[in-house]
Amino acid sequence: MAEVSTTAPILQLAGVCKAFGDAEVLHGIDLAVERGEVVAVLGPSGSGKTTLLRCANLLEHADAGELALDGAHFDLARVTAKEAAEIRRNTAFVFQSYNLFRNRTVLGNVTEGLVVAHRMPKDEAREIAVRCLERVGMADRLDAYPVQLSGGQQQRVAIARAMATSPKVVYFDEPTSALDPELTVEVLGVMRDLAQDGMTMVVVTHEMGFARNVADRVVFMEHGVVQAEAPAREFFDHPANERVRAFLDTIR
Ligand code: ADP
Repeated sequence: MAEVSTTAPILQLAGVCKAFGDAEVLHGIDLAVERGEVVAVLGPSGSGKTTLLRCANLLEHADAGELALDGAHFDLARVTAKEAAEIRRNTAFVFQSYNLFRNRTVLGNVTEGLVVAHRMPKDEAREIAVRCLERVGMADRLDAYPVQLSGGQQQRVAIARAMATSPKVVYFDEPTSALDPELTVEVLGVMRDLAQDGMTMVVVTHEMGFARNVADRVVFMEHGVVQAEAPAREFFDHPANERVRAFLDTIR
C-alpha cells in the first residue's frame, strides 16, 4: 500500500473533456494520483474509462483538460509535439490486446523503446530489458516471437516493455480482459508484484479482486463523470451512493 504522501501528486488530471462527434464522453474529469499509488478505475461499460486513459496518454486528443506530470504542466487540448514526446517518454500504456511488434522477438519488443525513444546504447538497453523480463518471468523466452507465446505471456512481455523505460506512471487498459482465467491470474500476479515495488499505476479493470486487494484507491466512473472515489476496501465495503451499490450488485 502507498503511504500517505505530503508531496504533490505525481499525476494530476483536471477538467478533462472529450466528445466523439456529438457524443460527449468525458464531462470534465479530475483525477489525482500519488507517487507509488495504484488506482483502479471501475465503472460500467461505455462510461469513458478507456477514453480517459487514452486522453491522459495522448492516444486520443482531449477537447479540454490539464495534465500535471511530476511537476510539469500541460494543456491537453494544445500540446506541442515536443510536449507530447515528453509526456510519452515519461508514461507507459499497457493495452488489452498487448500490441507487441509481431516481427520482433521478445527482447526486441522491450529494447525498441529504449533504443529509439530513449536513445540508449544497445548493450545497455539489452541489460535493462533482460532485467525487466526476469521480473515478469519471461527471461527464458528472449528469442521467441509473439505468435509463439500465450496471451498471458504476451501481456507479461508488454508489461516488461512498459516498465523498461522507468515511467513515472503506467496506464493499464483492461489488461486481462482478453485472457482466459488461468492466464489472467499470472498477469494479475505480475501487476501485484509491480504495485508492491512502488510503481504508480492507473488500471482500468473488471477484476474486482485486483481492485479490492491490490489497488489503494478506486475511482468509479459512470456516464463520463467520476461518481465516487474511495480507498479500495471502503469502496467495496461501504458503497458511497446508490450508483456504486447498483454497480456492485451487477458484478456480485
Ligand atoms: P469504457 O472504457 O468505460 O467502456 P470507453 O471510453 O471505451 O468506455 O467509451 C466511452 C464511450 O465513447 C462509448 O459510448 C464509446 O462507444 C465511445 N467511443 C469510444 N471511442 C470512440 C471512438 N473512437 N469513436 C467514437 N466513439 C467512441
